[in-house]
Amino acid sequence: MRKLTILGATGSIGSSTLAVAAQNPDLFDVVALAAGTNTEKMFELCLQWRPKYAAMACETAAQELSARLKQHQITTDVLAGEAGLCQVAALDEVDTVMAAIVGAAGLLPTMAGVKAGKRILLANKEALVMSGQMFIDACREYGAELLPVDSEHNAIFQSLPAEVQRAMGYCDLDAAGVSKILLTGSGGPFRYTDVKDLAAVTPEMAIAHPNWSMGPKISVDSATMMNKGLEYIEARWLFNARRDQMDVIIHPQSVIHSMVQYKDGSVLAQMGLPDMKTPIACAMSYPERVDAGVAPLDFSQVGEFTFLKPDFARYPCLKLAMDACYTGQAATTTLNAANEEAVAAFLATQIGFTDIARINRQVLEQAALREPTDLESVIELDRMARGLAQEIIRKVSL
Ligand code: NAD
Ligand code: MG
Repeated sequence: MRKLTILGATGSIGSSTLAVAAQNPDLFDVVALAAGTNTEKMFELCLQWRPKYAAMACETAAQELSARLKQHQITTDVLAGEAGLCQVAALDEVDTVMAAIVGAAGLLPTMAGVKAGKRILLANKEALVMSGQMFIDACREYGAELLPVDSEHNAIFQSLPAEVQRAMGYCDLDAAGVSKILLTGSGGPFRYTDVKDLAAVTPEMAIAHPNWSMGPKISVDSATMMNKGLEYIEARWLFNARRDQMDVIIHPQSVIHSMVQYKDGSVLAQMGLPDMKTPIACAMSYPERVDAGVAPLDFSQVGEFTFLKPDFARYPCLKLAMDACYTGQAATTTLNAANEEAVAAFLATQIGFTDIARINRQVLEQAALREPTDLESVIELDRMARGLAQEIIRKVSL
């Protein structure tokens, strides 16, 4: 039986993870749940799952949760703050950590799981984007097993040979006969919108993804294709890939979740309905397969597959991220932080949709891109980029 901690339990990935656990009660034991500030949802989850531990990001939320649990005679231990999140990621009685906190807030708790040598199911792509080689080195040093949950990376993972699957972060694609990783993306809700109409896009429009149901931040990232940009950087680290070994292709139907092209001309793809329970179940049970509670793909209903090249005029964030990937760690950490601030400001209707790319670009241009040498300097860079982004946001929103 796998013993689980779920970081980001109240979110979209957290819910799907719990759904897979519920589908397979003999295989997964939910030991700890962690989240930000949604005590209401966490309380419901504790009622249902009776975890040994629950951690909330702040003291107030933890106290509120603790009081409600006591009223209901539930004995879950409540932990608080970043220390609490890190503690539940590193528990001795846990072997598997679902890393599904959104954004940079996930870095330290995910790293705590890495340093405790856990099997890390990585949904929180921002953590890897921010820390890159340091993250991979820590996985090796502490013997943590890294399995990708992001649907594209999980599709690529499934299309690679077992020896590569067991060496995430330091595999040798050339030796495995791989010529290219083909990262697919739907292109989001605005793939056919006139570029000049993008400035008028509202948060409601941006969050309504045509194929996937996800949290608000990643939904906006999908609309700008920053999500694909972050995934490009994520792929570079997970698969130890060079620039000539990665391509991005738009596939509006989201049936192919990504592909691997081999030297002999073969292309292996992983397909399925766009439901995160599939890659989550794959990572949770690897190398076995379990029932994810996902309907089978009915090819008679799928219709046509189409593919297009991404247009950088429509998706400037994608280009920024692909360039940052080769500028260095300081650039990707800075871009990730600027983007989180810009997306939050867009969701709060302080800035427009096309301002997101503008702010990201300006922060990259203005920031001192000193390469970080340790996690502290990553966090310092993140903080500095957020400050810069907030300054620019204030000017834009005046
Ligand atoms: P979401 O917004 O639905 O959930 C986010 C979770 O993180 C919540 O449980 C929230 O409480 C928690 N959280 C937020 N701030 C926190 C903090 N400061 N400390 C601790 N916890 C905090 O997001 P989501 O869509 O589930 O995405 C989670 C992660 O998975 C993201 O990194 C996203 O990029 C990645 N991902 C999501 C999907 C998807 O389909 N939703 C697909 C691929 C990758
Ligand atoms: Mg993805």
